[in-house]
Amino acid sequence: MNPIIDIEDVSFSYRETHVPALNHISLAIGEGDFLGIIGPSGAGKSTLAACLSGAIPHHFGGTLYGAVHVAGEDTCEVTLTDISRIVGSVLQDIDTQMVASVVEDELLFGLENFGVPHDEIEQRLSDALQTVGIADLRDREIATLSGGQKQKVAIAAILAMRPRVLVLDEPTAALDPASSTLVFETLREANRALGITIVVVEQKVALLSEYCNRVLVLNHGEIALQGEPHEVFAHADELRAIGVDCPRVTRIFNSLE
Ligand code: ADP
Repeated sequence: MNPIIDIEDVSFSYRETHVPALNHISLAIGEGDFLGIIGPSGAGKSTLAACLSGAIPHHFGGTLYGAVHVAGEDTCEVTLTDISRIVGSVLQDIDTQMVASVVEDELLFGLENFGVPHDEIEQRLSDALQTVGIADLRDREIATLSGGQKQKVAIAAILAMRPRVLVLDEPTAALDPASSTLVFETLREANRALGITIVVVEQKVALLSEYCNRVLVLNHGEIALQGEPHEVFAHADELRAIGVDCPRVTRIFNSLE
C-alpha cells in the first residue's frame, strides 16, 4: 500500500480545552482507499477530518503533537493552499461552503481562484459535472436544488480542482436514504473512475459497509476498531457499547454464527 496520507501519533487539543479531541492516532491512508469514519458524537471524527484537510493546524488553534503527512509533505510545514491542491474537502455545512448562486459559477469560482488556465476551465467544469451526474443542472440556481443535488454540486466543485483525496464530513446527514445512496454512488465513481482516495465521516452504517473498503471507528479521540467493513462490523457487542449500530445483514450473520 502506498500511503497518500500518513498520520503519525497525532494528538490534538483545541485551545482552552483540557481533554484532547484526538489522542495518539496513527493511521496510513492508501492511495485509492475508500475509508469510512464512524463513531459517537464528540468522538473526534470532524477533528480528524480537519487534520487531513489542513484546517488543523492552519485554521483551528490548539496544541498538536505528532505529524500529518499529505503526499509526503508535513501539513505544518506547507500552506493550506498547498494542502488543498492535494486534499479537497466538503464541509459538514455545505451552505456555508457555497459561494455562488448558480451551479456553473460555483465551479468557476474555485477554478479561477486556483489559477487554473482559462483554456482548461471548460473541460474541467464539464468533466466534474459529468462525473457527478449533474450536467443538466449547470445553469440552475443553487437555492432551487434539493439537498442531494446541492451535495453533488459541492462535490463537483471540489472534483473540478482535481484533488487526489476527497474528505467529506457527514455528506448525507440531511438527506433521505435514496439521495444518500446517490451521493455514495457519486463517491464510488470518483474513486473507481478517477482513482481519487475518499475519506468520509458517515453515520449510516449500511452505506459504510457497502461502499467503503476500510472502516475506522473512533471513540473518545482514539481508534477503537479498524479494518475491512465485515471485520469491523463483526464486533457487534463492542460497537453497541460505543454507541455504533451494525448493519442489519451483519447482525443476522453474527447471530447465525
Ligand atoms: P465528532 O465529529 O466525532 O462529533 P468532534 O471532532 O467535533 O467530534 O469533537 C471532538 C471533541 O472536540 C469534542 O469534545 C468537542 O466538544 C471538541 N471540539 C470540537 N470542535 C471544537 C472547537 N472548535 N473548539 C473547542 N472544542 C471543540
